[in-house]
Amino acid sequence: MIPQELDLCVTDACNMKCRYCYAAGKNAGKKALTFGEMKKAVVIYLKRTLTDGQAVDKISISGGEPLTHWEEVSKFVKWLGKNLPGQIKAEIFTNGTLLCLKKAQLIVKNGLKLRLSIDGEKESHDGARIPFGGESSFDIVMKNLKSMPAPLRKELEAVPLISAENVHLAFKNMKFLLDMGFKMIRPSFVLNEVWPKTKFAVLKRELEKVSFLLRKDEKARKRLMKISLKNLSKGLEEFARSNEISIATDGYFYPSSLISASVAAMGNSFRRKYRIGSLERGIETGKLFFLRKEAWREIKKCGADLYLGCLLCMYYSVQVAGGDLKSLLLSAEKIAEITEKACLLYTSPSPRDLSTSRMPSSA
Ligand code: SF4
Repeated sequence: MIPQELDLCVTDACNMKCRYCYAAGKNAGKKALTFGEMKKAVVIYLKRTLTDGQAVDKISISGGEPLTHWEEVSKFVKWLGKNLPGQIKAEIFTNGTLLCLKKAQLIVKNGLKLRLSIDGEKESHDGARIPFGGESSFDIVMKNLKSMPAPLRKELEAVPLISAENVHLAFKNMKFLLDMGFKMIRPSFVLNEVWPKTKFAVLKRELEKVSFLLRKDEKARKRLMKISLKNLSKGLEEFARSNEISIATDGYFYPSSLISASVAAMGNSFRRKYRIGSLERGIETGKLFFLRKEAWREIKKCGADLYLGCLLCMYYSVQVAGGDLKSLLLSAEKIAEITEKACLLYTSPSPRDLSTSRMPSSA
């Protein structure tokens, strides 16, 4: 059993300290993968998927902020463009503050999806996404976007996060991103926090407005990506295959990016517990399955059935930073129910799809 996605956390460095990022503040170590290590991780992963007969969905580049490590990342982007089989998607996440015309061109030319973490209008974006220099990250990103010709700008995809803090602006933010002309808008929720009950009514109101807009506007409907709803009915095997495995800057594979990139998971004994292989030894699928089974057992005990986003991110956020898994999952289930009622979920081809929508980090 090997999951359908590999996420490469290529650097620990980031020029921002976003409020909801589990990787924020990890600049102390400032480690990174070399181009050679990135290549090797992909080759190990793909060989393993061939042995296991597992289809691959995508290869993701995240961090930290990948563009702080551009010299090596740009070589890797070119290598993926030349060597990745056509049916496998590749994507890179960025906070956009270091994005320029040349970098965007190179990423798009090599066939990678360029995913920009932008939460919407200035108020929401700057409220959560804070550069170390203290300036407005929204203004920097807008300036960078304006330096690009419109056709290139339209290749970018926006990845806004809806949190308990900005939910009252969800409709305005989605409308703003649609008007900006992004190719796709892929909203997801901050699910590593238990939402206060009062916020659920706000979410309902905002999503109904979004839903109304989409019913009237077919073009917007095509560009605002519906959020996938998941449940656990497909069993442990499917759960074990879903989501990603990740490689961290220490050269070890982990069962989730939340462990690879998390500043709270830097302790040696914690990391040893969750290592599922390395660039030297390859991937230990037996241990990975054991860890997925452990997560599955704990998640099932909580009694919540519906989920949006990445269940493993929620589970590991509790392992890493503490908190009550049951409260987290029940809060996430309520968000899922409201989103389902607003018809903002996938309806085809498989209504209760198990695909991934990860929490931040990385940009
Ligand atoms: S979310 Fe991304 S940009 Fe923000 S601190 Fe985390 S890694 Fe950096």
